[in-house]
Amino acid sequence: MRFARRLEQVPPYLFAEIERKIEAMRADGVDVISLGIGDPDLPTPTTVVEAMRRAVAQPETHRYPSNRGLPAFREAVAGFYSDRFGVAIDPATEVIPVLGGKEGVAHVALACLDPGDVCLSPDPGYPPYTSGPVFAGAEVNYMPLEERNAFVPDLDAIPAAVASRANLLFFNYPNNPTGAVAADGFFDRAVAFSRRHDVVAIHDASYTEIAFDGYRPASFLSTPGAKDVGAEIFSVSKGWNMTGWRIGWIAGNAEVVGRYRQLKTNLDSGMFDALQLAGVAALTDARDFPREMSDVYRRRRDLMIDALTAIGLSTDPPLATPYLWVGVPTGHDSASFAELVLAQAAVIVSPGPSFGPSGEGYVRISLTIPDKRLQEAAGRIASSLRVESRA
Ligand SMILES: *Cc1c(COP(=O)(O)O)cnc(C)c1O
Repeated sequence: MRFARRLEQVPPYLFAEIERKIEAMRADGVDVISLGIGDPDLPTPTTVVEAMRRAVAQPETHRYPSNRGLPAFREAVAGFYSDRFGVAIDPATEVIPVLGGKEGVAHVALACLDPGDVCLSPDPGYPPYTSGPVFAGAEVNYMPLEERNAFVPDLDAIPAAVASRANLLFFNYPNNPTGAVAADGFFDRAVAFSRRHDVVAIHDASYTEIAFDGYRPASFLSTPGAKDVGAEIFSVSKGWNMTGWRIGWIAGNAEVVGRYRQLKTNLDSGMFDALQLAGVAALTDARDFPREMSDVYRRRRDLMIDALTAIGLSTDPPLATPYLWVGVPTGHDSASFAELVLAQAAVIVSPGPSFGPSGEGYVRISLTIPDKRLQEAAGRIASSLRVESRA
C-alpha cells in the first residue's frame, strides 16, 4: 500500500515516546508518575453533565446538527464574550462551533493556506500549528519564543521575503508550553503586522480561564482592530475539565468564520446538538467553574515550585496555564535532564524540544494530576535530585 506523502512530513505524535517509556518502566514494577501530558484529572462540572444527560434524552438533538451551530450555543458564546472579555460578538455571523480547539487550529490552516504560502507559527508550540499548515501544502516559518522576549514572537525579526508570502499567523496566550502570558502590546503588534502584510491572525485562547494571583487574561478580540484581521479559537477543554467532550468555537472576523464554515461543511457535519447544549451550560451555569480550577492549579503550582527550589532550580511562578516551563540545570540539555528526573525520581517531564527546536534548554511540567500524586512527585524530585543551580 502507498500512503500520502503529507503523512511523512509531520513529526510523530508528541507523546508516543513518553508513553512507550512509561509502559516499559511500569512493566518492571516501577511506580512512574507522569507530569508529561496536559489533560485535567478532575471531573467536568456536575451541572454540565446533567445538562448533557437531559439534552441527550431529547430526540430533537439526535439528527444532523448544522455547522453554523445552534442559536442557543452562539448566543451563549456571545454572552460569555461580552461579560468576560467586554467583546461584542454577532452570534449570527461571527462565531461557529469547532470540535475542540485542535480541529479549529488544523482546519483553519486548510481554509487559509495554499501550497507555496507561509504559516507563521510559534516555536515552541502546539503541534497542530505545524501539521495543519503542512497538510495544506504550506511552509511553516517558526517564530522563536525566547525568555529574553518574554516568550512572545519578535514580529520585526520576520524577514520581509517571508512576511510577504505569509497568509496565516498563529499565536497562543496564555501559552502552552511556556506558561507565559501576552506581554503588553503584543496583541497590538500582531494586529499591525497582520494588517501590514495582509495575513489572517489566529489566536488560540485555550488557557484564558486558568489564571492565578488575580490575573485575568484578555481575549485577542478585545484588541482594537483584531476583528478586522482575524479570529480566536476558544476551547472549554482545559478550563472546564472537558477534554473528552470536544467543544470549542472560532469567533471573530465574519469572513474568516464564514470561510471556515464553508470548509467544515465539506469535512464534518457539525457538533452534536446535545454537546452544544452542554456547552451552553458550561458558559452559563458553570461559568465560574474555571476559577475554582485555577485555585487548584495555583496550589499545585506553588507546591511544585517549592520542590524545584529545594533542588536549586528556581522558576518564576507562571500567572496562567497548568504548566511550569523550567530551565534545565547547567551541564544538561532537555533530554538528559528529563532522563535524570525519570531515572532518579521515576517522574516523567516533557523535554522542551518536543514542542519545537526553541524548546531546547527547558522541560515542561504539567500540573494536571491529582494533588496526592503531585505531592509524591514533588517529594521525590526534592529528595532524590540535587542539581547545580542554573548559571
Ligand atoms: C489543549 C490545547 C488546545 C485545544 O484542545 P482541544 O481539546 O482540542 O480543545 C489548543 N491549543 C493548545 C495550545 C492547547 O494546549
